[in-house]
Amino acid sequence: MLTDKVVVVCGAGGFIGGHLVADLLAKGVGTVRAVDIKPLEEWFQVHADVTNMVMDLREKDNCWTALMGADAVYNLACDMGGMGFIELNKAKCMISVLINTHLLMAAERAGVSRYFYASSACVYNGEKQSDPAISGLVEADAYPAMPEDGYGWEKLFSERMCRHFTEDFGLTTRVARFHNVYGPNGTYDGGREKAPAAICRKVIEAKLSGKHEIEIWGSGEQTRSFMDISDCLKGIHLIMDSNDITFPINLGSAEKVSINQLVDVVEDIAGIKLTRRYKLDAPKGVDGRNSDNRLIREMLDWEPQVPLREGMARTYRWIYEQMA
Ligand code: NAD
Repeated sequence: MLTDKVVVVCGAGGFIGGHLVADLLAKGVGTVRAVDIKPLEEWFQVHADVTNMVMDLREKDNCWTALMGADAVYNLACDMGGMGFIELNKAKCMISVLINTHLLMAAERAGVSRYFYASSACVYNGEKQSDPAISGLVEADAYPAMPEDGYGWEKLFSERMCRHFTEDFGLTTRVARFHNVYGPNGTYDGGREKAPAAICRKVIEAKLSGKHEIEIWGSGEQTRSFMDISDCLKGIHLIMDSNDITFPINLGSAEKVSINQLVDVVEDIAGIKLTRRYKLDAPKGVDGRNSDNRLIREMLDWEPQVPLREGMARTYRWIYEQMA
């Protein structure tokens, strides 16, 4: 019975964590604990009927306080951001290893029945992402290990930590490798924003200022795929509830889009055309990244449902409301 369950969402003040708390409440989970290091007034979403806890989950004792008596845990807490942040803050990114390690220790001690870890496509071997025409990364492409320096290594190490807590201590863990997730109620400025939100912000700035220019990081030919938050949430639940997904699995869109094409989409939503200036020395990440979804389609019958333009229009509207 969901009403009897105690579920903890770590990183609940952030983008995905905030949406996940709302979703768990809508599903009827009895007790939701929402944990984040940020002061409550900086959380993207604060929900009623939730135990909100402001604490640093790098600290072992705090992890125990958060997880005591819990049935299920979702670890979305991480010191991270888009390429502009992770390329310049590798040590900060790697320190998040303390969060997952101490949460796993607390989860085992608390007898938690399921533990979810949010990994990333940044675990994939860089050499397999040098072509913008990449067809898709399969789960095995994480090895031999050559992930994104800093952030990707932390994710790969934490994935393995989950695996070994399962093998050695019998803790049931589930790991999803998120490819870019976008939607409202997330970071769009300040240096940690990712491409979809950053492009929306830049297009809105151009529209509001009348200066019809946009700066694009890299050549704009680099490719990625983008998943709407509602598709991400459905995938998280399917993976968490599955008895078969006992290994890290892709959770992302398989629709490859160049950054230039993403700008086209946002320009179309905004009803504007901008002069593009390319900043070739800006952090831009790998040349090509896309999700191969064969495994998740076969095993969980999951496919993204939200078309890019529709999801981006929702995201654009929310960012516009914040800025205007
Ligand atoms: P986010 O930055 O919006 O949320 C992360 C939250 O973790 C933040 O609110 C932050 O304050 C909190 N946090 C950081 N350090 C903490 C600490 N020491 N103790 C407690 N809380 C702490 O990021 P998001 O986009 O919601 O991402 C959630 C998870 O998904 C992260 O693990 C991220 O690496 C992963 N992920 C996200 C994407 C994406 O496109 N958004 C892609 C791949 C992986």
